[in-house]
Amino acid sequence: MGLLSEGSPLSWEETKKLADHVREHGINQFINLYHRLKDRQGDILKWGDEVEYIIVKFDDEQKVARVALKAKDLLEKLNEKELADPKNVKSLWRPEYGAYMIEGTPGKPFGGLMAHFNLVEANMRYRREEVTELLGSDECVMSITNFPRLGSPNFTYPLAQPHPEDPLSSARSLYFPDEAIFPGHPRFKTLTRNIRKRRGEKVSIKLKVFKDVKTKLPVEGAPPGEPDVVLLDAMGFGMGCCCLQLTFQACNITEARRLYDQLAPLCPIMLALTAASPIYRGYLTESDCRWNVISSSVDCRTEEERGLTPLKEQKFRIAKSRYDSIDSYLSPEAAKYNDVPLTYDEDVYKRLIEGGIDHLLAQHVAHLFIRDTVSLFSEKVHQNDEEDTDHFENIQSTNWQTMRFKPPPPNSSIGWRVEFRPCEAQISDFENAAIVCFVVLLTRVILSYQLNFLTPISKVDENMQTAQKRDACRKEKFWFRKSSKSTEQRAAQAANGTSNGNGITTNGINGTNGNATANGNGILKEENGHAKPPVMTNGTSKPMNGHGINGQASMNGSGADSDEHTDTDDEENELFQLLTINEIFNGKPNVFPGLVPLIRSYLQSMEVDTDTHCTIEQYLRFIQKRAAGELITTATWMREQVLNHPDYKQDSVVSDQINYDLLKRIQHIQEGKHIEPALLGQLNHSKTKTKDFIPPALQKQLAKNGCCEEK
Ligand code: ADP
Ligand code: MG
Ligand code: MG
Repeated sequence: MGLLSEGSPLSWEETKKLADHVREHGINQFINLYHRLKDRQGDILKWGDEVEYIIVKFDDEQKVARVALKAKDLLEKLNEKELADPKNVKSLWRPEYGAYMIEGTPGKPFGGLMAHFNLVEANMRYRREEVTELLGSDECVMSITNFPRLGSPNFTYPLAQPHPEDPLSSARSLYFPDEAIFPGHPRFKTLTRNIRKRRGEKVSIKLKVFKDVKTKLPVEGAPPGEPDVVLLDAMGFGMGCCCLQLTFQACNITEARRLYDQLAPLCPIMLALTAASPIYRGYLTESDCRWNVISSSVDCRTEEERGLTPLKEQKFRIAKSRYDSIDSYLSPEAAKYNDVPLTYDEDVYKRLIEGGIDHLLAQHVAHLFIRDTVSLFSEKVHQNDEEDTDHFENIQSTNWQTMRFKPPPPNSSIGWRVEFRPCEAQISDFENAAIVCFVVLLTRVILSYQLNFLTPISKVDENMQTAQKRDACRKEKFWFRKSSKSTEQRAAQAANGTSNGNGITTNGINGTNGNATANGNGILKEENGHAKPPVMTNGTSKPMNGHGINGQASMNGSGADSDEHTDTDDEENELFQLLTINEIFNGKPNVFPGLVPLIRSYLQSMEVDTDTHCTIEQYLRFIQKRAAGELITTATWMREQVLNHPDYKQDSVVSDQINYDLLKRIQHIQEGKHIEPALLGQLNHSKTKTKDFIPPALQKQLAKNGCCEEK
């Protein structure tokens, strides 16, 4: 999201009346943008992270930590550099839902050079330092997923009290005051009000309390008949959580669809690995992740849509909240795994088909468009459907799913992108950088080895629920696709450097820069033989023709995994097995080589400078160890901190004192003052300093390649 433009939000009644208008024009806009951009080719790999942060204020005398409601003031200062010189900033700052939250991204996306993996952590550190400079000595910017006592008495600074009976309140929450919603832009309060009004009542977020020997039941505020439930009643409890997201640019729409599909089954897996939020409203719960909380926090479905009363006013029963995991794959080879019935309006679907959109994309968009707009600004109502995309974006950007398929914005140099959205924010820059780099590397491996992770959507949904269970990372099993022989062969071949001359480079797929040819080492060379720095390219996809995803990189002649062609129903069933997180990341003999070993084999074929190599190796070891349970998740660590705290009374309550000490410890960890072996082991951080970012020689080559530079 760019800097939010100011505007006047319409009332809910006005917005509601315009729901069909937004839908109709949104669909027109999508059809138009599709035809303008569907043939766009040759975009290079670009990628970038988004980290959300909470500002915490410590009262060292009273031993209380609170969220500091100062994001608006901070952002005014943080945005100064960008406003003065938007092209030359190292970071960009944006508002988020909470008045105590900010979102930071790198100033420019990273690109296709291996060396970029060595910049991520430094850039994250830079962002943290940039904010820290603007804070008081008793304040701290923290990349924690949830503030443990969010919604507990007096959790904000300055103190603000909820006003559930006030008709002017947006949230009407018993716990979460409107002052904790970002005040600098009307979008956030408007969404809060409209979601509540559309639903017909306040949102209702239910979490099972972690029952300890002295846990008092019913939990304070528990709904009738559900004594063990921690009830949360406001959008802020979910949208006020932080997460870690990544966006990648694909070379064209086909590759974007493919990456969207291949990454979707990895969402629950990465959610389990990054679990970081076991405490809500001051209670230890049975959940380790924010996902269901945030999903319920914006659940605008009416009782009819949720299936509680017969359909009268509304058109459909709707299975999920607008914030949830994806419901359908987008590429033809994945279509058979779309095993969950998709809800959509036949007329909308028909218009898309008649507008020249293929079935899979049409049903995806039609499904997004079952939602009504919940935030509309008066100056945006009337648009030019040939050029504008605001109505499309209005619905697209309020479908908050595990993956987002992002068309290029109007009049920009940006290509087709996909966003990976499940991960929870980790305490340290090291951890966040490790996760980001891991996922980006995984996309390269998926494209290079044509990996196939496709799993029926119903099983991915099941995995999403499993992922959030207490200590799922060590204790649970997840549906995962068995790898095919051809995958393993490809990986082994690449590792041995025995790739053939079929247009495959061992570093992936032929580059989009026409003068690059592959040599046996997988390094792209210019025709005259001068080696370029190792570049991770995007594919050069042909239109989908059933002959593999990218016309070039087909090792078995058909492009798709060979098991695709011989599947019988029985084999299909055997394809999906229940694996532990350890097995998925580190491998299980005869079933799956492991995500990390696959990345390692890919890296063997890349030329990487020593520094970057060390950094990546640290990240991979961290991921391996966490997956193996040698290092624990942030969620498990937080639980242990609470359970072992002298003030803990075995009653599931995270008191002010415990909260204060927990956050102080987190502060020391993120500042590197305290090494927590259970979380980080002996791993070293990326050595790249913020200021020496990229060596000058590399910078020149970068500029030549057009990497890391917005056109
Ligand atoms: P969102 O719509 O999710 O808020 P943002 O605009 O905040 O997305 O950007 C998300 C990330 O995408 C940022 O890290 C940014 O650096 C990165 N990014 C920007 N341009 C591109 C691009 N052309 N391709 C891929 N990623 C990009
Ligand atoms: Mg963003
Ligand atoms: Mg995002």
